Amino acid sequence: MEAVFIPLTRYLVDDFIDEWAKLVNDSYSRAGVGVHILIWPRTESPPIKCFNFNRVQYHSTCILSWLYESLASKVSTYYFIGIGYIDAYVERLNFVFGEAAPGMRVAAVYTKRLLPQFYGRGPNYNLYYERVAKEIVHELGHLLNLSHCVNRACVMSFSNSVNEVDLKSRFLCDKCSRSLVSYMSKTK
Ligand SMILES: [Zn+2]
Ligand SMILES: [Zn+2]
Repeated sequence: MEAVFIPLTRYLVDDFIDEWAKLVNDSYSRAGVGVHILIWPRTESPPIKCFNFNRVQYHSTCILSWLYESLASKVSTYYFIGIGYIDAYVERLNFVFGEAAPGMRVAAVYTKRLLPQFYGRGPNYNLYYERVAKEIVHELGHLLNLSHCVNRACVMSFSNSVNEVDLKSRFLCDKCSRSLVSYMSKTK
């Protein structure tokens, strides 16, 4: 299975993206699924039409549609994941760490609220790097047909706060691993 990581910002993404690819690859290989990850060679800034000036946040669903129209619709065999140091929301939620649209094979992870400094904490780039990796594994899981998991240690458990992100591991539980392997064998 092939996935493409698209930097949506250079800041706090460029220096980490190769390592995120390794961690995501490791999480999926432990679940029994091989993922080949390509890093998109340039930064794709989300269009200004997706920015809500009243909320000072990007509209995530708008970003996903833009990623689909500009990239994913042109290549039918890849899964696309945008990663950016930005803040984004969906309707009825104050913010999201990420969103996936499996029908479009497109997802995004928004890292601004995964940085400890956002909460007035001191810098901890290892923690930031781990948190973002978990959210990428999570959103890619949605693209591969996985839903939220009740196991709080499973990467597919839903995170409403950064504390919940820290509580889960970056690995799929046995049950999610089995669903994934079974889904992948059907889509081949
Ligand atoms: Zn989710
Ligand atoms: Zn699970």
